[in-house]
Amino acid sequence: MTVLIDSHIHLDDERFDYDRKALIKMATLSGVSRFVVPAVTVNRFPAVLKVAKDYPSVVYTLGLHPYYINEHSATDLEFLAKSLQGSGAVGVGECGLDYYLKDLDREKQRKVFEAQVILAKHFNLPLVLHARGAIDDVFKTLKKHDYFKAVMHSFNGSVEQARQITGAGVYLGFGPAVCNPKATKLQEMVQSVPLDRLMLETDAPDQPFHDRTGKRNLPIDLLRVNHEIASIKGIGADQLAAQTTVNTKHLFKL
Ligand SMILES: [Zn+2]
Repeated sequence: MTVLIDSHIHLDDERFDYDRKALIKMATLSGVSRFVVPAVTVNRFPAVLKVAKDYPSVVYTLGLHPYYINEHSATDLEFLAKSLQGSGAVGVGECGLDYYLKDLDREKQRKVFEAQVILAKHFNLPLVLHARGAIDDVFKTLKKHDYFKAVMHSFNGSVEQARQITGAGVYLGFGPAVCNPKATKLQEMVQSVPLDRLMLETDAPDQPFHDRTGKRNLPIDLLRVNHEIASIKGIGADQLAAQTTVNTKHLFKL
């Protein structure tokens, strides 16, 4: 059976509260062996830890997401540093920069992000990066600290950006957006990404498929993502699953 790892899934999300167990079981039976769950605010740390405790197939990362920049307080970074110490977290994130929404203070975002890059380097943990409309600035921060142990999730940059970023050793995560037949530019870029730099994700419950707008995205949807990307790359679904599993295990030391 094909064995897959979901490199980015918000299983702690409240939208999974009533059927989390059944959904994880269904995905596991279909070959999704591991789930990497990134926290987004300190308020979510307990929920993320609980999912990891309840399900042996779940590992987690801790971080402060730029989308919630207005919620992060001055002591949150300190709390994150303390929480990372001997916590069993496999990475730092979800962190990064989001320039898409104009009311998210960019200066504060950059400060909070850079602090997390320093923390990741200090603990020698990989970064789970969010870079919406801010790929160059996120990459610049990695270069500044000479730290490339990272995955840029839901990557949607150009072929040239992908080339530079993967060339530095950073992995790129791809999810449901790739399955949209209208996303030809994204698919072309995915085609150009070296196999040993690819990761798969659902980003569930967010990022619904183009043909299922308004609905939750589910853990089992990773199979569809794998299938679509394999066909873009012109390889078998089993081969892509095997390679992305190796990649994800390698980065997060699973
Ligand atoms: Zn996410």
